[in-house]
Amino acid sequence: MTYGRNTMEPLSDLEFRALEILREDSRISIEALARELGISRSTASRILTSLRKRGVRFTVEATFAGQIAFVLGNRRLSDESYRTLDGRFISVLRFNSISELTEKLRDPGRRSRVIIASPVKKILTHGLRCDYCGGEIGKEPLTYRRGRRTYYLCCKTCLSQLRERFKRRSNSIAQK
Ligand SMILES: [Zn+2]
Repeated sequence: MTYGRNTMEPLSDLEFRALEILREDSRISIEALARELGISRSTASRILTSLRKRGVRFTVEATFAGQIAFVLGNRRLSDESYRTLDGRFISVLRFNSISELTEKLRDPGRRSRVIIASPVKKILTHGLRCDYCGGEIGKEPLTYRRGRRTYYLCCKTCLSQLRERFKRRSNSIAQK
């Protein structure tokens, strides 16, 4: 099997979930990553290698000095973009300042999601909307992980409302 530098194999669901975890902790150990994803250490290691080969840089040891944003959406925003299994794209954007990022994100497409992997571990958002109220999240989002999905919330109220909604849903399923 050969891995060319420009192979555009689709990013698997596991790889995308790994990216989400790496966004929160870019120096997470392979053991912890494997635990979070519920997979073996060797599979986790393979995923990391695969992401690196695709040009995704996510550790502080990376040669790139600036910051990286992953944009999940309906269109390619850079030459460095990968198709996901559901037909959307993950574009990798490299930037050194917020204005540079804003420039690159001028038209990210509807319902796009921006994830910033930052060496300083500060999460910035741009056009990220609250999964409960739909309002734009102007500051660092609150996150809530349920099953395979991570939800982004704008405030504590929305977070607790979302939790309540899931609680009611699982109660009504249990009663049936
Ligand atoms: Zn909200």
